[in-house]
Amino acid sequence: METVEYVVVGGGVAGTATAWRLAGRGADVVLLEADELASGASGGPGRRGVRAGGRDLRELPLVRRALELWPGLDAELGAPTGYRRNGLLSLYDVEIAGVSGWQSLPARVQAQRAAGVRCEIVERERLDDLQPGIGDEVRFAVHTPDDGTADHPATTRAFAKAAVERGARIREHTAVTKLVPGDTVTLELATGERLRATRKVILAANRSTPRLLADSFGISLPLWEKATQITFVAAPPGCTLNHQLGHPRRSLSVKMTDEGQVMLSGGRPGGWNPVTGAGTTDPSVLRTALSDLAATLPALAGAEVLAVDNSRADTSTIDLIPVVDAVPGFDRVLVATGWSGHGFALAPAVAEALASWALDGTRPEVLQPFTFARLGVGSV
Ligand SMILES: Cc1cc2nc3c(=O)[nH]c(=O)nc-3n(C[C@H](O)[C@H](O)[C@H](O)COP(=O)(O)OP(=O)(O)OC[C@H]3O[C@@H](n4cnc5c(N)ncnc54)[C@H](O)[C@@H]3O)c2cc1C
Repeated sequence: METVEYVVVGGGVAGTATAWRLAGRGADVVLLEADELASGASGGPGRRGVRAGGRDLRELPLVRRALELWPGLDAELGAPTGYRRNGLLSLYDVEIAGVSGWQSLPARVQAQRAAGVRCEIVERERLDDLQPGIGDEVRFAVHTPDDGTADHPATTRAFAKAAVERGARIREHTAVTKLVPGDTVTLELATGERLRATRKVILAANRSTPRLLADSFGISLPLWEKATQITFVAAPPGCTLNHQLGHPRRSLSVKMTDEGQVMLSGGRPGGWNPVTGAGTTDPSVLRTALSDLAATLPALAGAEVLAVDNSRADTSTIDLIPVVDAVPGFDRVLVATGWSGHGFALAPAVAEALASWALDGTRPEVLQPFTFARLGVGSV
């Protein structure tokens, strides 16, 4: 049986980034990917937001560290991530009542600043200077200038390439079927082979993680899969977005792609079959996205729809923050999953923390909120 110090299961952004970090500290690492690199949530068209703005407050220390790391990644990895820091404007109108609306903005800004995230409330007049063409209903924005976007499959491949250059071995089309705990961890592979990890396994298989935990440890992790439908429309001549835009009440996120298309996302799900792992687009979600876009950026009303995609699902937890923790009762396996639709931005900091935990044996403080225990998960 082949023996290695560290095994990473899953070739998405979390797994490849962690393999890169581990290999950078001289560890003997193998990454196993069931399909191809970036074939899960870390793949697919468009761009992903790299944002601190609007995050759950428990994620702020982690995302602040991630935002420190992102600008240097292209140089460190020697490959492009497509990262652009163009700032996020989170838009608010006055029609919302309660704490989720504009009334909460001073409290949000105060909490984000306390966590080291630069941000400010922008009144309507100044908003027009930052981003012309926003619809009349919008009254305020929260500007987080250090937020941006990146190319998610390119980033995943860049981490993988750099990990290999540091000596990690990556095997695609190699699914792990079970982890057998003991003094070491034995991984059973779909190929019929077995692989022994003498130090740690990093389980970054996202959608497959609940099944692997159930089959290997008898642990029931309450996650579910959610595919976010995204739409691409043609930008009219002269229409440029200086920032990425978010409209929390409308569940709308608007980004410009490198090709000059306008990408709409924001969390509204299309259809998804968790058994087959196949998504279907939902016409009613498309209609809502287009009407939200027309209200938010009136110049884009009636824009030509170029593509609609619902091919990727992420995993969600009940409190919408991830699980990054050791398997209860078995600390040779560290798990990272349950990103709830916003794990891409965190990956550089999660990988740094996971690698440090795996190599040094101490759980980094920045991971403290992301426990199994908070979800009622313990060993059986
Ligand atoms: C449409 C959409 C939009 C999003 N937008 C944003 C955004 O704007 N900002 C943001 O921060 N995040 C965003 N996210 C979330 C983000 O993309 C994910 O949280 C992140 O990519 C998860 O990375 P991962 O490596 O954990 O999982 P994945 O990318 O899903 O990787 C898991 C990998 O494990 C492999 N695998 C599965 N089972 C096995 C097995 N048994 N053996 C070996 N390998 C296995 C899979 O094939 C897969 O490649 C979005 C997600 C989606 C779907």
